[in-house]
Amino acid sequence: MARPQIEKVVIAGGGTAGWITAAALRKLLPAHLDITLIESEQIGTVGVGEATIPQIRRLNAILGLDEDAFVRDTRASFKLGIEFSDWGHIGERYLHTFGDPGINLSSLQFHHYWLRARAEGSAASLWDYSLHHRVAYANKFGRMERVGNTPMTGLAYAFHFDATLYAACLRRHAEAAGVRRVEGRITGTDLNGETGFIEAVQLENGERVAGELFIDCSGFRGLLIEGALGVGYRDWSHWLPCNRALAVPSEQTEPLLPYTRAMAREAGWQWRIPLQHRTGNGHVFCDAFMDETRAADLLLANLDGRPLADPKPLRFTTGRRERFWAKNCVSIGLSSGFLEPLESTSIHLIQSNVSRLVELFPTRDFEAANIEEYNRRVGHEYELIRDFLILHYHRTDRDDSEFWRYCATMDVPDSLKAKMALFEGGGHLFKDPEDLFRESSWVQVMVGQGLMPKGYHAMADRLSSEQLARFLSDVQAIIAKAEAQLPGHTDFLRSHCKADLQ
Ligand SMILES: Cc1cc2nc3c(=O)[nH]c(=O)nc-3n(C[C@H](O)[C@H](O)[C@H](O)COP(=O)(O)OP(=O)(O)OC[C@H]3O[C@@H](n4cnc5c(N)ncnc54)[C@H](O)[C@@H]3O)c2cc1C
Repeated sequence: MARPQIEKVVIAGGGTAGWITAAALRKLLPAHLDITLIESEQIGTVGVGEATIPQIRRLNAILGLDEDAFVRDTRASFKLGIEFSDWGHIGERYLHTFGDPGINLSSLQFHHYWLRARAEGSAASLWDYSLHHRVAYANKFGRMERVGNTPMTGLAYAFHFDATLYAACLRRHAEAAGVRRVEGRITGTDLNGETGFIEAVQLENGERVAGELFIDCSGFRGLLIEGALGVGYRDWSHWLPCNRALAVPSEQTEPLLPYTRAMAREAGWQWRIPLQHRTGNGHVFCDAFMDETRAADLLLANLDGRPLADPKPLRFTTGRRERFWAKNCVSIGLSSGFLEPLESTSIHLIQSNVSRLVELFPTRDFEAANIEEYNRRVGHEYELIRDFLILHYHRTDRDDSEFWRYCATMDVPDSLKAKMALFEGGGHLFKDPEDLFRESSWVQVMVGQGLMPKGYHAMADRLSSEQLARFLSDVQAIIAKAEAQLPGHTDFLRSHCKADLQ
């Protein structure tokens, strides 16, 4: 018997989450599926979210966005990683790059060879073997899938972009493909008296928009998932205490760096995101340790260009919905939870949740197993990212402020404790299939924060000292040669995807 297919999807909210969801569902699901998106210009969007990670390239490719046109339209720049300064130790910095340092040899991760050389006193810093590090600090960029005919992979990259222009770009795309947009403020929901399923949303002008599957993209409000269905929220602020941000654009300054900067401050950190037409800045902090006036002063005192607006305040509670999918409602974007922007993971979570929804797309029977599996997988990915973020705060030598003393001594999740212990013992790391971050990301952040393994894998001893030294110097030579061939970041933008700033 044919299963009762869903015919009408209603998306509540048109920020980055709403328009990514609309554009992706339109592209991936059958054309007869009716997709309506409701948004309110009066309410607007959160208006931040400018730094991304390489997975966004996959989304853009699925949607059929031409990359150069997308960079031009969103006034974007390229991003090879995030520079963390003053995190593990004041005065120190490291780059969490999107690439793997070195080259894996005989299926053993590179960092084990590096750890052995370090133990023998013959290794440079881990980042001296990183192509991304070298290219980023040379302010260069180019598209490079592989490094010549070597086993080294090329440059993995993402973008810094204007989030409002990105949502507008997705909107054009989705509307052209047949998504119906309704302007209006949602003021209520009609629930089925027996099942509690959402039947329709009511708009301020009296219109009623009915559907079968509802996707809540209404931002922090969680209008449907929380407002109508009351699923509850799991608060993680005891592990990730920052709960406020001030965001301010400033005049663009040269050179245009191909990486984000995350500068630790006394009760949080400050971001710097270079775009073609301006620099995005923000100060993320915890209001239990710093008031807003001090946070604004610190932010404005540390801009490298003239501010273009007053700082915009934002409040959030780090955590997740108890259930991301309940009855016939799936929450995507900020309505599903929030992990602070330290590793630019929110837009990725939107796209990964949309792809899980597509994989487990229900029928009108709303199979319990699909919902269960979706909630399990999304919850697990949230927890893995949460642990990765906590690592940045917890593994620190800083004790110069109450905030950092709290972070350094707080009890952390057992899952993170186990990961840190495994790495500290013998440099071991194993990727969980749901983990967004590869082993090399964990290695860079653990080492960057000052967590140095006591040992390394025995396989690294299969090389003689001479072979090891040659291997490491070959890696450095390959990197130097590859970097020398690349153009400057600004030159690349100018010749391929310069934004029209008129
Ligand atoms: C300080 C900060 C920094 C961030 N930095 C990054 C970053 O660098 N990288 C990254 O990936 N992410 C970042 N994020 C997260 C990112 O901003 C969001 O994930 C992204 O913008 C998606 O937001 P959203 O679409 O879920 O919500 P919103 O942008 O809030 O959109 C909600 C939509 O719902 C609509 N709506 C709400 N209520 C109603 C109603 N009653 N009726 C009709 N419509 C309604 C609104 O009009 C809007 O269209 C950051 C977030 C914060 C707070």
